[in-house]
Amino acid sequence: MLNKKLFYETIKPFNINVDESAFNRLDKFAEMLIETNKSFNLTAIKEPDDVTVKHFADCLTIFKYADIPENAKIIDVGTGAGFPGLVLKLFRPDIQMTFLDSTKKKLGFIESVLNECGVSGEILHLRAEEAAQLSKYREKFDFATARAVAALPVLSEYCLPFVKVGGTFISMKSAESNEEISEGKKAISILGGNIEEDIVFDLVENMPRRIILIKKNSQTPTKYPRPSAQISKKPIK
Ligand code: SAM
Repeated sequence: MLNKKLFYETIKPFNINVDESAFNRLDKFAEMLIETNKSFNLTAIKEPDDVTVKHFADCLTIFKYADIPENAKIIDVGTGAGFPGLVLKLFRPDIQMTFLDSTKKKLGFIESVLNECGVSGEILHLRAEEAAQLSKYREKFDFATARAVAALPVLSEYCLPFVKVGGTFISMKSAESNEEISEGKKAISILGGNIEEDIVFDLVENMPRRIILIKKNSQTPTKYPRPSAQISKKPIK
C-alpha cells in the first residue's frame, strides 16, 4: 500500500489533484504490486515508501508537464508492471490506455489490477516493433509513453510509429541522459518527430528526473520500426 502522507507531500509541488477515489484505486494497485512482488518479480522497487515516491508520484508528474485531453488514446510501451500507464489510467479513467509489453506475466498482473479497480484497458502482448507495423496500431495514438525501456535512439523507433501526426511521445528519463538525448535527435527527426520540450526537475530533493515531449510532425517512413535484430544492431544515430 501507499504511504498516504508521503504520497501527498511528494505530489504537492506538481499541483496534481488526486481525489479520494483515485487515491483508493492507486492504493489498491500498490497493495497488489507489493503483495505479488513477494512471489513474482514485478519490480526491483519493493519498499512501500520507495514504491510511493519512485513509482506512483514519479509517474503522476506527467500530468504537470503534458496536457492530456479527455478520452486521449495512449499506448504505454514496455509498461512492465504498469508504469507509467496504469498509474495514468487509475488516476484518469477517461484515458483509453493500451498496455504493451513483450512479457505476458506482467500483463496478467495489470489485467488483475484493472479488474479489481473496475476500469478497462487494452492489453497487448507483442514486441513494440511488431505491433507498430500493424495498421490497427500504427499512428493511431494521441500519445505514447515509456519509462526505463531503452536508450532514446532505440526507444524512439519503438514509440514514434504509434503516434498520430500531431500527437506526442512522452519519454521519462533520468536527468543524466544528456548524451543519449543528443544521440536520439537524429532518430527522432528521421522518424517524423522533434523535441518540443525537455524538462529537468527534482521529484524530491536530490532525485532528478527528466520528461521529454517529442511532437510527431510527419508520418514515420514505413520501413520503421525495423525488425528487432536490426534495431539493436544498428540503432539510428
Ligand atoms: N516501464 C516500466 C517501469 O518503468 O517500471 C517497466 C520497465 S522494465 C525495465 C522494461 C520493460 O520493457 C520490460 O517489461 C520489458 O519486457 C519491456 N520491453 C523491452 N523492450 C520491449 C519491446 N521491444 N517491446 C515490448 N516490450 C519491451
